[in-house]
Amino acid sequence: MLMIFTQDKLQNLEHYLIDAESIVITAHKSPDGDSIGSSLALYHYLKQHYFTEITVCHPDASPNFLNWLEGTEDILSFELNAEEVKSKLKRASVIFCLDYNSFGRVGNEMQPHLVSSSAKKIMIDHHLNPEEEGFDLVFSDDKSCSTAQLIYELIAAKNHTDSINKAVGEAIYTGVMTDTGSFRFPSTTGKTHRIIAELLEKGISNNKIHERVFDNNSVNRLKLHGYAISSNLEILPEFKTALIHLTAEEQERFEAKKGDTEGLVNTALSIKGIDKAIFFKESDGIIKISFRSIGEANPVNEMAAKYFDGGGHKNASGGRYMKGMSNAISQIKKVLPEFC
Ligand code: 5GP
Ligand code: MN
Repeated sequence: MLMIFTQDKLQNLEHYLIDAESIVITAHKSPDGDSIGSSLALYHYLKQHYFTEITVCHPDASPNFLNWLEGTEDILSFELNAEEVKSKLKRASVIFCLDYNSFGRVGNEMQPHLVSSSAKKIMIDHHLNPEEEGFDLVFSDDKSCSTAQLIYELIAAKNHTDSINKAVGEAIYTGVMTDTGSFRFPSTTGKTHRIIAELLEKGISNNKIHERVFDNNSVNRLKLHGYAISSNLEILPEFKTALIHLTAEEQERFEAKKGDTEGLVNTALSIKGIDKAIFFKESDGIIKISFRSIGEANPVNEMAAKYFDGGGHKNASGGRYMKGMSNAISQIKKVLPEFC
């Protein structure tokens, strides 16, 4: 089994951290359970061992369904606190880059401030094909189900599992649970379950976390999903593909909040006989595209990378299109035959 937290790399990391005056933890744009869970797990862990300034700086604010996690109130976002984040990045001695494999994934606004910082940059990530240039240390395992699992492995490799208190444990559990679709994706391994078992034995309440993340719907969110499914779902049986979309106007009509469209693409993928689902969401004047698929032979990240300026995992990727909703959907229909 791949062991990415080798003793020599951990020594380098320790060397950076021991002298650090300020540590910043970053993650990718459009935060999800894993980017926030891994960030907060690392944050609460580091605070127990390094008595220096430690700040989580994300490109965007956290979605409501994750705001119960301890420490979300401490997260600074570039979206809401650009000047403070710029200053933290500039002064940082060490910057952790969690759950992303290239600097571009923090978004155009934050990227230049991250790249120009003189801090040591540490990638901890599970996406394919890490772009290692510019990083001082890379801990990357594309077989890992989540970055949160890698944070557990880092803590375990340091022999610090005693530091996994409620705050660290709940953050790890949330990251692993959300990135594995509640332990159902093929990335879920025996190791994942052994880690989760240990968290449960430490007193982490699994049912409370599932309830907080999933039983947390607003009426508007349910109506938005109902509307998208009844009005904006298109099945392309010849390609075993389901397309679903929401314009900005439709999201406004249902007073959609951050995170409210989460899960819609998986609902489309749950249709019998469908092995690819694509969700188009108009946001800030562009069309954001989420790709999901089933099976090894269905690498949607190739479609995302080749035609939609994106990438990601084989079965879960993202991209964007700049020329409007109807053109985005036409473009998908045009290129789909190449991937079927
Ligand atoms: P989502 O559809 O949830 O936004 O993204 C699904 C997956 O694709 C996530 O693992 C995310 O990290 C990845 N992803 C989303 N957008 C991009 C992108 O523009 N580039 C790359 N490389 N990965 C992306
Ligand atoms: Mn992840």
